[in-house]
Amino acid sequence: MSIKELPIDTRLIQLAEEAAELSQAAIKYVRVLRGETPVTKEDALQNLTEEVADVSVCMTSVNDLVRMSEVAEIIVEKVKRWEDRADAETIL
Ligand SMILES: [Mg+2]
Repeated sequence: MSIKELPIDTRLIQLAEEAAELSQAAIKYVRVLRGETPVTKEDALQNLTEEVADVSVCMTSVNDLVRMSEVAEIIVEKVKRWEDRADAETIL
């Protein structure tokens, strides 16, 4: 069975759950960098890596719902915005 044969609500709930796990993994990694948790850097990085993979799979599972050409355009705009902000911060 293909992932896309699952009902869309199942796929969206999984995406939401994995996005929440990715958020927690990102925060945990920062806490490791700040020395605020006994978790090792390697364990935190491994968890972060797995959660990025989980979210990537879930994003793929909804690309028949989301307009991927529009996503590509938005990514270009947002990367440019980040770069502009980074340039502005470098100047300040
Ligand atoms: Mg996960």
